[in-house]
Amino acid sequence: MRIAVGGIHIECSTYNPVLNEEKDFRVLRGPELTASPYFAFLRDYDGEFLPTIHARAIAGGPVARHTYEAFKTEFLEGLKSLLPLDGLYLAMHGAMYVEGMEDAEGDWISAARAVVGDDCMVSASYDLHGNVTQRIIDALDMYSTYRTAPHIDVEETMRRAVKMLTGSLKTGVKPILLWAPIPVVLPGERTSTVDEPAKSLYDMLPGIDAIDGVWDASLMVGYVWADEPRATAAAIMTGTDRAVLEREAKRLAQAYWDVREDFVFGSETGSIEECVARAIASTTAPVVLAESGDNPTGGGVGDRADVLAELIAKGAQGVIFAGIADRAATEACYAAGLSATLCLSVGASLDTKGSKPVTGSFTVKYLLETKEATDRQAVVSIGGVDVVLSAKRRPYHNIADFTRLGLAPHKAKIIVVKSGYLSPELAPIANPNLMALSPGVVDQFVERLPRLRKTKLTYPFDKDFDFTPETAISARAVGR
Ligand SMILES: [Zn+2]
Repeated sequence: MRIAVGGIHIECSTYNPVLNEEKDFRVLRGPELTASPYFAFLRDYDGEFLPTIHARAIAGGPVARHTYEAFKTEFLEGLKSLLPLDGLYLAMHGAMYVEGMEDAEGDWISAARAVVGDDCMVSASYDLHGNVTQRIIDALDMYSTYRTAPHIDVEETMRRAVKMLTGSLKTGVKPILLWAPIPVVLPGERTSTVDEPAKSLYDMLPGIDAIDGVWDASLMVGYVWADEPRATAAAIMTGTDRAVLEREAKRLAQAYWDVREDFVFGSETGSIEECVARAIASTTAPVVLAESGDNPTGGGVGDRADVLAELIAKGAQGVIFAGIADRAATEACYAAGLSATLCLSVGASLDTKGSKPVTGSFTVKYLLETKEATDRQAVVSIGGVDVVLSAKRRPYHNIADFTRLGLAPHKAKIIVVKSGYLSPELAPIANPNLMALSPGVVDQFVERLPRLRKTKLTYPFDKDFDFTPETAISARAVGR
């Protein structure tokens, strides 16, 4: 069984003005793809897995058109060189936005289908924050998505997609794929599977999988910071019994719709001013304050200094702020050296129109030794605040992200991270966790975002409308 492997994995806020170029992606090509830890699980499955290209970046702004076209060309050329193929496994995110192109995954996946031909079986794994279209469904035979957010079942999901594919190729059974869009699109922070009502909805899935004729039940939250017609939640089913798949897709879609008003934030929220005041007044520590509108792992720019400005203005003490992407400020720290005190402008270096920098006198406390200049990170202090500056956009969601910079998060009074819901490593130390509904390109207060490309009524942008779930089958499955 000859099975090609490839894909492109990025989540793009259409509100983020900072384009992603090739340098922003980690690209796996040829043998290094199949040898990588990310794809190591493939060796547990029967089949000859043939690498093409897999390009992955952290969430951000749109992908530059020329970058996308170069990756796509390389991917399609790779597929052509591997023909004939029995199968294709696509490892995708699902919320890519390419400059001047809507439904970018639809473009990628349908182009792949055109190359591999009708006899090839194609299976995809997705992030549940992807947005699906009929064009995507029409080009696929099998589909599976994460069932946890925060995502702790990435490999499990990829395994489900590959297991269905190898199983289908071995037995010759060609499954049916169908879906039921749900006109709801909410932020991940209101739909974490740790909290209700998402927890109970996702708990339904293993039970649906166990029904005869069902191979996989997927529930998509969708991606709200994409002002595209396709932004939607969805129930997506793969299996062999069309009637059962339709029934379960509708049941799941209805269940999601019925609780749409119950999705709330899992932590205490407030404005920047409210959250900073509460953090300073807290009698317990560390307070972990998530600056949610600028979360780089959700598609935020990661360069805003609004919360930093408020902390300085209010004289906050014992604060670790991680971090702000600002290449020029980071480089200035390395040039000045350890213990130097220098005047810096911090923040608003990437999205120069979106926010204001903080200007002040900072002392350099730590400089990380790195091979690449783009990986540089400096810790600087101003008043009672230690601020991490980084040369590129990046999250600080793991304890090691702090300790490698000489910082002790457990001992801080206040930790500020650019995050929505907290990562599995930060959540347990938060005492308490506050989430600032701060401005930015991944503003959690989604109702205040402009929705210029919305083509149908969608909750929570529209509230007063009815919905009855309906399914649509993949063009691939007609007649199966
Ligand atoms: Zn996600």
